[in-house]
Amino acid sequence: MKKVLLIYTGGTIGMIQNPQSGALENFDFAQLLSHVPELRQLPVQISTRTFEPPIDSSDMNPSRWAELVRIIDENYDRFDGFVVLHGTDTMAFTASALSFMLEGLAKPVILTGSQLPIGMLRTDGKENLITSIEIAAATRPDGTPRVPEVCVFFHEKLMRGNRVTKSSADEFDAFESFNYPHLATAGVDITYNDKQILHRDKDKGLTPHYTLDTNLIIFSLFPGIRPDIVREVLSSPTLKGIIFRTFGSGNAPQQPWLVEQLAEATRAGKVIVNITQCTGGSVMMRRYETGLQLIDAGVVSGQDSTVEAALTKLMYLFGQHLTPNEIRRQMARSLAGEITMSPKE
Ligand code: ASP
Repeated sequence: MKKVLLIYTGGTIGMIQNPQSGALENFDFAQLLSHVPELRQLPVQISTRTFEPPIDSSDMNPSRWAELVRIIDENYDRFDGFVVLHGTDTMAFTASALSFMLEGLAKPVILTGSQLPIGMLRTDGKENLITSIEIAAATRPDGTPRVPEVCVFFHEKLMRGNRVTKSSADEFDAFESFNYPHLATAGVDITYNDKQILHRDKDKGLTPHYTLDTNLIIFSLFPGIRPDIVREVLSSPTLKGIIFRTFGSGNAPQQPWLVEQLAEATRAGKVIVNITQCTGGSVMMRRYETGLQLIDAGVVSGQDSTVEAALTKLMYLFGQHLTPNEIRRQMARSLAGEITMSPKE
């Protein structure tokens, strides 16, 4: 029998409505499982761990990611796969962070949650939970794990964890992977898209990483952005890296003050990564003059990375104490399938 470790961090899936206030609050994990008696029918041995107390995912942070990494590392040899129950709000950040922190991962780590609590009649939580456990236990004909990577399973779709973004606050279909195909689809059967799934060498072993550096900011352009405010942000002495959210294929206003301030930040050792404000598509800074000027200012392309993946990748790389130039080089490489390597950039 396959063994899956179910880690409950919190989120709507395990919440219950307070009869007085009407607000959703966390409840006991054992109660959560009692709402899914169907789990007993799965040919999988399920063990559980829970965050004490469970948290709304708005309170997720790097030390809790480290806690997840520690639980997975300590139990890595004893389980075939891992399912992490997580609030949807920051699930894409956690999935991205884990994909970098769990270097060499060769077993499934499936994050899931729900839009409605599992105790509610129309919940999407049961389906998401049951299918995630099935996927975490699934193997190829040779007995190796079917999906040896960090994924998000939500509403019939299995997606690479560092490619997803929460796309809806209220639909059951709440996540999308805009720039990478789904890894599996759960209909009557679970159909795997094997060609798109990472192949990992299990003999290399898992190398867990616990240190992330959060001296970063996500900084979004808009028409009318002010030089004094930009200067204030970019010159902050503790700031090390900037996720610079630009227009379209990576464009910024042709304002000398902006280019000069970006160049100044680069000279000061800050790493600036260009990520488009569009949900789909890639940064291509050589396409327009408005992008070209950014290359001259030392800005590096985030290619088709999500904001969540680019940010957590920077946290991870700065956490490795690499030089700014080495971090710029690593940002152009795919570490865990987070970018589609483009010959143009
Ligand atoms: N606020 C909740 C959370 O992210 C929402 C959810 O679980 O869907 O924890």
